[in-house]
Amino acid sequence: MKCPYSKKCGGCQNINLPYEEQLKLKQKYVDRLLSSFGKVNPIIGMEDPYHYRNKVHHVVCTDSKGNGYTGIYAENSHRVIPVDHCMIENEKADEICASIASLMKSFKMKAYNEDRGTGFLRHILIRTGHITGQILVVLVVASPVFPSKHNFVKALRKLHPEISSIVANVNNRGTSMVLGEKQQVLYGKGYIEDILCGKRFRISPKSFYQVNSVQTEVLYAKAVEYARLSGKETVIDAYSGIGTIGMVASDHAKEVISIELNEEAVKDAFANAKNNRIRNIRFVKADAGNHMKKMAIQKQHADLVFMDPPRAGSDAKFIDSVVRLGPERIVYISCNPVTLKRDLEMFGKKGYKVRKIQPVDMFPGTEHVETVVLLSK
Ligand code: SAH
Repeated sequence: MKCPYSKKCGGCQNINLPYEEQLKLKQKYVDRLLSSFGKVNPIIGMEDPYHYRNKVHHVVCTDSKGNGYTGIYAENSHRVIPVDHCMIENEKADEICASIASLMKSFKMKAYNEDRGTGFLRHILIRTGHITGQILVVLVVASPVFPSKHNFVKALRKLHPEISSIVANVNNRGTSMVLGEKQQVLYGKGYIEDILCGKRFRISPKSFYQVNSVQTEVLYAKAVEYARLSGKETVIDAYSGIGTIGMVASDHAKEVISIELNEEAVKDAFANAKNNRIRNIRFVKADAGNHMKKMAIQKQHADLVFMDPPRAGSDAKFIDSVVRLGPERIVYISCNPVTLKRDLEMFGKKGYKVRKIQPVDMFPGTEHVETVVLLSK
């Protein structure tokens, strides 16, 4: 099957290639960037590389007759391509997007118009728990006043009783950020829970969570394998999100210190540790570079550092401080081989050598590659 939107959408550069071809291209890409550091292991692909995205984001539009529809931004633009069935998105989430659009006309609900600043419903964000099946629907709206909100929620739940929670997020800024500051829970708990590596995690609308749950388990297993923990180590989990890697590693370590900048994610992480009865983990809400610098100045100790920065990679402050802390091993998880290469070069100049390189295909259909790297002194 070919993706009918691929020419316009630009989200998936490789979607119409056979999966084996896609994996070969990614392997070549990582080899080209990273083979100077050592042998790159064969990329770990998926058995079923479709509909893996547990987070679905659609932009909402209305046509000239007032009918709602949803879709995806065309590449490098804010032009919306109507999408009903995306080959990588969770299928239930796509169905719910269509149902929300179908309710708009009878509720006289207009899509927000970015140019004119008129209308109400801007985006739909849906998260599904891979194991739990829980579903969180976030309606991003332009105004804090939600007309007929109880009836709208009732109508949506009637169409989809499987929805666990509905949140209205208010974003009235002219911005390319999807979510705004203010939120109101319209139904349910305001978050979903999912199970990853045998632990239960609560995930709020603004918290980062890996989009491909099947491959995340593969990725984390590799990271923990590379860490070779004996139970005696002090471990740092930097850029920790809702605390997933640190909590998975906590069973094999003396203690874990998690560092994360996003407040909502840190709150989730606290709750997650409590729910899973993990007592040897601490959470710090801070810029990872700043906090590591503080730890280095205080001559604190760490045996192992997991680091999982966003696409922009880490920074000199963080890397210098890691080097000063002097952990035996560093496990670097990266979603961007370009910044990974840059950061590995910095580590190299400071005496850390790359020992293992393992790409994992977290994003079939697209050009994105995730890589786990083990470094040691
Ligand atoms: N390790 C987590 C999250 C990885 S995504 C997981 O596997 O789910 C990267 C995370 O880094 C995000 O949660 C983001 O909020 C956080 N982040 C971004 N910049 C940061 C910074 N300067 N300091 C600390 N955390 C940061």
